[in-house]
Amino acid sequence: MIDTLRLTAEEAAGLLERGELSGTELTRAYLDAIEERDEELHAYLHVAGESGEAVPVALKDVITTKGVPTTAGSRILEGYVPVFDSTVAARCKEAGLPLLGKTNLDEFAMGSSTENSAFGPSRNPWDPERVPGGSSGGSAVAVAGGLAPWALGTDTGGSVKQPAALCGIVGLRPTYGTVSRYGIVAFASSLDQVGPLTKTVRDCARLYALIAGRDPCDSTTVELPAPVEVPRAEDLAGVRIGVPREMNEAEGIDAGVTERVQAAIRLAEDLGAEVEEASLPRSVEYGLACYYLVAPAEASSNLARYDGVRYGHRAEVDGDLTTLYERTRWEGFGAEPKRRILLGTYALSAGYYEAYYGQAQKVRTVIAQEHAAAFERFDVLVSPTSPTVAFRIGEKAENPLAMYLSDLL
Ligand code: GLN
Repeated sequence: MIDTLRLTAEEAAGLLERGELSGTELTRAYLDAIEERDEELHAYLHVAGESGEAVPVALKDVITTKGVPTTAGSRILEGYVPVFDSTVAARCKEAGLPLLGKTNLDEFAMGSSTENSAFGPSRNPWDPERVPGGSSGGSAVAVAGGLAPWALGTDTGGSVKQPAALCGIVGLRPTYGTVSRYGIVAFASSLDQVGPLTKTVRDCARLYALIAGRDPCDSTTVELPAPVEVPRAEDLAGVRIGVPREMNEAEGIDAGVTERVQAAIRLAEDLGAEVEEASLPRSVEYGLACYYLVAPAEASSNLARYDGVRYGHRAEVDGDLTTLYERTRWEGFGAEPKRRILLGTYALSAGYYEAYYGQAQKVRTVIAQEHAAAFERFDVLVSPTSPTVAFRIGEKAENPLAMYLSDLL
């Protein structure tokens, strides 16, 4: 009997390599777990159930998979079956990783709880009354709940890190440009990245190494400067850790969250790291406002491609082309994408462009410079990922501002 709740991808790979388990048996164990718990947890939108020689992977449903439905959590893409693979899906395939399934998410990756999925929310495996975070909530639930050994998500403004934090697993948002976005349903192209969600840092390094690197199909990608190394936790001598005051003492951070982060910092110190206070005053003050201008602006432009002509849903209309566009979008997009399209279009409109989008771009540069300066002094900056632990389903669903505030850090 395989305990999928505890098995790491590394351990699963070991079992396969030593011939103690077949690929079919491994996939079977996850399919059994899915059958047992996914009706409640709803990590998956589509179960593919492939088996092979390597450890199977679950992919967030914004990751294009040839011949396998890809919905982005939206009615507007319902029924869309891509004719090509995204680069990350292709790399998983080349490495022999079978596809376990496509995971649930906030529609078009817009949200922090998975409640914005057009197909219903995912639930936190540790307490199904609570959200798993978002937007890569399904991937986090799959890994934390033992329904997948490891998974990929995407992170535009926290969508890998935050659900990983709320489900108690590891999430990495890689440096922009290190992982190809070819075939990823675009949200905000200057921010979107693909990243792993795993049980351990070692699994995370393995999966990251597998997907990272230059891709001629995505001109924003770069070659990695060095191979990805699996970090050794037992020795942190010489590692300089900065603790940004504003991100650790911001208003609204739960005492329990601070307590756990402080404990982790003390542990790093015990392992030999040098810990010092750092400061990122502008990033915390302006980060959220800046993000909620830049990301919707880019989204309003990216989502213009869903017109009912080329993919997915098409409204039945008896009228002209403009009516077809309007009806299709009205029926196909949920409330959050509509809200972001409106916000973004407004921020980009003539007369307001400089005051909103232009200003946000300048602030973004200031934030980047502030981080670059901090990384001159420190190897690592430590802060909570989310100001709170997993909140209750429904608690913030009707209040977009409260939901956006959970992205503060
Ligand atoms: N919570 C953020 C938002 O709603 C994060 C989205 C993301 O990273 N895809 O925009």
